[in-house]
Amino acid sequence: MLKVPILTYHSNNVMGNEYHNNDHVALTEDLKLIQKLGLRIITLQQLMQWHKGAADDAEMSQAVVLTCDDGSWFDYYDIEHPHFGKQRSFFNILKDHQKATASTAHISSFVIVSPEGRVELDKTCLAGLGWWTDDWWLDAQNSGLMAIENHSWDHNHVTFHRDFSRDHSFREVNDAASCDYQLKQSQAYLKSQGIHARFFAYPYGNYSDYLKSNYLPKQALGIEAAFTTDPQHVTKNSQVWAMPRYVCGEAWQSSDELADILRT
Ligand SMILES: [Zn+2]
Repeated sequence: MLKVPILTYHSNNVMGNEYHNNDHVALTEDLKLIQKLGLRIITLQQLMQWHKGAADDAEMSQAVVLTCDDGSWFDYYDIEHPHFGKQRSFFNILKDHQKATASTAHISSFVIVSPEGRVELDKTCLAGLGWWTDDWWLDAQNSGLMAIENHSWDHNHVTFHRDFSRDHSFREVNDAASCDYQLKQSQAYLKSQGIHARFFAYPYGNYSDYLKSNYLPKQALGIEAAFTTDPQHVTKNSQVWAMPRYVCGEAWQSSDELADILRT
C-alpha cells in the first residue's frame, strides 16, 4: 500500500549545534538525505488531497511532507542565539536548499496563536527577547514556501494553568468550552491576520476523545484534518482526525535513523 511520511521539527529546539540537540542542524542534514534518496517534498495540502481521493497515487510516489510546530521567530527569521550563535531559520534553510538543488521545498508551520500567550511563552520558554510575534505569518504564507496552520490558542501550556503537577497534555481539552477556547478563537484570530488555516496539530500530539471524535468532525471552522505525533506513515486508511507524524528527536535521532524511516 502507498504510504507517505510526515516529518515534524521544532525550531525552538536549539540546545547546542549538533544534529541531536538542534533541529536547524537536523533539518539541514535531512534535506540533503531527502535529496540523496531521490524523494520529493510535497505540501501537506497535496497529501491531504490525495488522502481524500482527489489526487492520483502517482503524485504521491517518493513523496515526503515537512511540518514544524509552535511557530516562533526561529521558523522564519535568522536569529543570533545568546549561547549557540547564528541560527538559520527553517524558512531560509528551505530557501537555501531550493536554490542549491533546483528542487521544490515546502513546510507547514503549526503556530501557537494567542498573542498574549506567545508573549508569555517567549519569556518562559525562550530568552524573553520578543521572538514569538506573528508579523511574519503572512509573508511566510505568501512566499509559497511555508504554510501557516493552527497549533491551538495557547497549547494548554503549563505556563497558563499554573498546575505543575499535571502532565504536558492536550487531553483535558475535552468539552465544548475548552475546545472553542483552543480552536474556535484561534481560527478566528488567524483569519483576522489573513490566514485561512485548514489543518490542526494537537499540542503534545495527544487529544481527548471528545475533541477528536465529536468536536472536530462537527466543527465548521474550516479545519479539514488534525495531526498527532504517532510515528507512522500516512496511508489511505489513516484517520483524518488523527493523522500520524514522525517527530525529530523522538522518532529519529540521526540521519541514519531517518534513512530507515524514509526507506520503509
Ligand atoms: Zn507544540
